[in-house]
Amino acid sequence: MEQSVQVCIAGGGPAGMMLGVLLARSGVSVAVFEKHADFLRDFRGDTIHPSTMQMLYELGWLNDFLKLPHQKVRTLTGVFGTKRIKFADFSHLPVKAPYIAMMPQWDFLNFLAAKGQAFPSFKLLMQTQAVDLVTDRGRVTGVRALCNGAEMVISADLVVAADGRGSTLRACAGLVPNDYGAPMDVEWFRLPRLAADTEETQARFDGGRIFIMLNRGDYWQCAFVIPKGRDAEIRAAGLAAFQASVAALLPIDTTRAAAISSWDQVYLLTVKVDRLQEWARPGLLFIGDAAHAMSPVGGVGVNRRVQDAVAAANLLTRPLRANALTFDDLKRVQARREFPTRMTQRLQLFLQNTVIAGSLAAAGPVAPPLALRVLTAIPLLRRLPARLIGLGIRPEHIAPR
Ligand SMILES: Cc1cc2nc3c(=O)[nH]c(=O)nc-3n(C[C@H](O)[C@H](O)[C@H](O)COP(=O)(O)OP(=O)(O)OC[C@H]3O[C@@H](n4cnc5c(N)ncnc54)[C@H](O)[C@@H]3O)c2cc1C
Repeated sequence: MEQSVQVCIAGGGPAGMMLGVLLARSGVSVAVFEKHADFLRDFRGDTIHPSTMQMLYELGWLNDFLKLPHQKVRTLTGVFGTKRIKFADFSHLPVKAPYIAMMPQWDFLNFLAAKGQAFPSFKLLMQTQAVDLVTDRGRVTGVRALCNGAEMVISADLVVAADGRGSTLRACAGLVPNDYGAPMDVEWFRLPRLAADTEETQARFDGGRIFIMLNRGDYWQCAFVIPKGRDAEIRAAGLAAFQASVAALLPIDTTRAAAISSWDQVYLLTVKVDRLQEWARPGLLFIGDAAHAMSPVGGVGVNRRVQDAVAAANLLTRPLRANALTFDDLKRVQARREFPTRMTQRLQLFLQNTVIAGSLAAAGPVAPPLALRVLTAIPLLRRLPARLIGLGIRPEHIAPR
């Protein structure tokens, strides 16, 4: 099968779907390839931040979006021994939805897919896996893909690699991101949540362990932060030992740790922080995790990917519509997004290497870090964490059509 579109996007994650929908909304013909048959993936970025909802508002889609089931997180709390510090309060942000909406990522992606279907130039091809780049005299001119096992070639003015942190197209282009390291990995699992639970979303820091609980309505989404590479050792020590270490950190009825009845319920996230030096080649652009994987610190992943997509749509729609896209246009996307990405990653690395590594290495109770005490003690600085997490550095906005 051979086809031709203006833009072919590999990867139907937050970055690829948002870019596809925005371009199609402006009349650009787009095909998004997603290798899976659906968007169902547990334990992904389920945190939709105020910055993303503000863009949905600018698109006129916020009310529809908020009709989907979600939980609102208005503040973030850190617990250090017996000390509780509310380090982010989103209620002051100058946006329409000043809170984090906890929503399964598949609901968000299905929502974008439904919006995309309203535009005639939007094509979403599920079970279609990009396997190689098609090039002509040094320029990428299309993608070779497997669609339900059948080979197809799509030619395009622009190929966008939004195929995630293990990007196939990045490997095809021979690009390797710089790896900035991470001292931890994360084990994700669920515990039952009762309507009577009074605890809220929080991160608990203790000697040698960090435990995060996110209120997801009828369950707690829990993250057990462990020293890098120790997952196998923890599993080898047995489920009972794991349940006991979870129970030791639970501020709710500790017997609920017994709900983890199999290792199949525990999902390992290997934390990575990396970034490509160049996000573009002639005819090819990398966005989202394919260009830069981020740490889960701050839960900003999905939202920064959506911002990549919005920046790319803002910068590329006009040249695409004029059939005049150049390599310089693609480099402008990197120029726009590299600074906020670099700064966010630096901040994450700082927190990883001080607060997180410090807590994981500590033998006894952990005190709140100095930076956090300063931030929360000085009124002028108190609003900074909510701004950095909720909006990010230089947030993007939907350009008028
Ligand atoms: C366990 C886990 C927990 C996380 N928790 C959070 C969180 O709490 N908050 C947060 O903000 N972020 C979190 N993240 C990160 C967040 O999910 C990612 O940063 C975000 O999804 C990246 O978006 P993306 O569109 O760039 O890539 P992805 O979401 O990885 O999407 C890439 C898509 O491309 C598809 N694909 C891959 N290869 C191909 C191919 N060759 N052809 C076609 N399709 C392909 C994949 O199936 C996938 O759907 C988490 C990630 C993981 C793994």
